[in-house]
Amino acid sequence: MMFRATILTLFPEMFPGPLGLSLSGDALARGLWSCEARDIRDHGLGRHRAVDDTPAGGGAGMVLRADVLAAAIDAAASPDDPRPRLLMSPRGKPLTQSRVRALSAGPGVTIVCGRFEGVDERVIEGRDLEEVSIGDYVLSGGEIAALALLDACVRLLPGVMGAAASGDDESFENGLLEYPHYTRPREWEGRAIPDVLLSGDHRKIADWRRAEAVRITCERRPDLLEKRSKKT
Ligand code: SAH
Repeated sequence: MMFRATILTLFPEMFPGPLGLSLSGDALARGLWSCEARDIRDHGLGRHRAVDDTPAGGGAGMVLRADVLAAAIDAAASPDDPRPRLLMSPRGKPLTQSRVRALSAGPGVTIVCGRFEGVDERVIEGRDLEEVSIGDYVLSGGEIAALALLDACVRLLPGVMGAAASGDDESFENGLLEYPHYTRPREWEGRAIPDVLLSGDHRKIADWRRAEAVRITCERRPDLLEKRSKKT
């Protein structure tokens, strides 16, 4: 079963964009996932193919029309399409690694990318869109957020990254940030690689890495440690 991504956007040329390169690009070429970007403007109204209008109640900016967006969604995903329908949105639930893992284990996603001030609230309800945020800051459109979400999902697909991405050690996978990495040269600008990593003692190395992961998480993201202790 292939992971299928369908993206509804006013800028389909932004896809696959950077996901056409490197790991995700190779995976795309190998048919491990598919990426179909559809232009919302194909469903725009009138001679100018209008997709937006002024906000009811007044105020700045423009809002994506519910009727136009619904037509685009209906043309892209039938009601029995098993894929979750996501709307990239700063108001959404913040994306987490566990959500990414769940999405990547499924049939794929349909993603709506907002623009302007956002989308008419009624289409969120009427088409059962799940709002997803990639962080507490505001982008100018949902496309870069969609690329971030897809990148995180695709690297977890079987055969894309091999063992590395399935590792329990990666940041967030076990509720901890990852331990520090080192490689050659053994000494660089007077800085040495910690001795334990060169000891060949795998037990000691594992213990050191675990302690470092806890230390770094404690310093930088104590909220993760709290969540973790609640779980166990
Ligand atoms: N006026 C809106 C922001 C609109 S930004 C507000 O204050 O909430 C335009 C579009 O960019 C949004 O519709 C959404 O699709 C996308 N976007 C912006 N920030 C985002 C974020 N942090 N996560 C996901 N999508 C985001």
